[in-house]
Amino acid sequence: MMKKSKRSFLKVAGIAAIGLGAFPAIHFASSDSHGTAHAVKSPNEGALLAHRWGMVIDTNKITDEVAENIVTACHKAHNVPDFNFEVDEEKYPNTRPVNHKQEVKWIWEEGFHYAFPDKEDEFLAERFHDLPFLVTCNHCKNAPCVKACPTGATFKREDGIVLMDFHRCIGCRFCMAACPYGSRSFNFRDPRPFIEETDLKFPTRSKGVVEKCNLCAERLTKGEQPHCVEASEGAIVVGDLEDPESEIRVLLNEHYTIRRKQSLGTEPSVYYIM
Ligand code: SF4
Repeated sequence: MMKKSKRSFLKVAGIAAIGLGAFPAIHFASSDSHGTAHAVKSPNEGALLAHRWGMVIDTNKITDEVAENIVTACHKAHNVPDFNFEVDEEKYPNTRPVNHKQEVKWIWEEGFHYAFPDKEDEFLAERFHDLPFLVTCNHCKNAPCVKACPTGATFKREDGIVLMDFHRCIGCRFCMAACPYGSRSFNFRDPRPFIEETDLKFPTRSKGVVEKCNLCAERLTKGEQPHCVEASEGAIVVGDLEDPESEIRVLLNEHYTIRRKQSLGTEPSVYYIM
């Protein structure tokens, strides 16, 4: 079960990390002598907390329509540019033609062979080839992107969420090279002309900055579920992987699940019910 916040203490994290200057600061508990974090506290009454956040996606419940609703909800709320959007040329007169290979994605659909290349099999049940598999940042326990970032722009919170400080990103893209899941996107251009309706509750990014899913950290701190969970009609659950009583652990106990590229040792925190 996710716990509600009780009181603030200890180390304060840089709030710019998730571009949340307008939100109350998040406070984190300290690590023990082994560097293992044990608790996350927040001054926000009602914040959703976990020792280590994880996600379960029930692939049986992800229809094309549900997948589209999830992607739309996430991207709209986080001001992710849509290159299919017709740019207002009066407002943005010198916008270059779009290269769709440079699109920005936080969560998106992939085929089984891309999502789980190490589990592809000649005689794999056909239904898997037709299913839309949603992929996103796995908020890996051993996140190679964190180790690769030379500026600390990418870092892992004590509760397992891997975040980005957009202001610290120098656009070197080492994190993108390090991520074996292609979960990060680079802004090759100013994304703002391609945002139909900017949501002022979340910061826009600029050219030369990397971005990715933040597990809706800005919503968890307000006691709200991530957008993908709300739009998923029960197909996505997030919760505390280290709490045996949590809904997510019950699901993991009751269902056969797989994770992406497990053999790499990154320990992804996103599980797929098959
Ligand atoms: Fe980093 Fe990629 Fe793992 Fe996300 S999926 S934590 S971006 S290595």
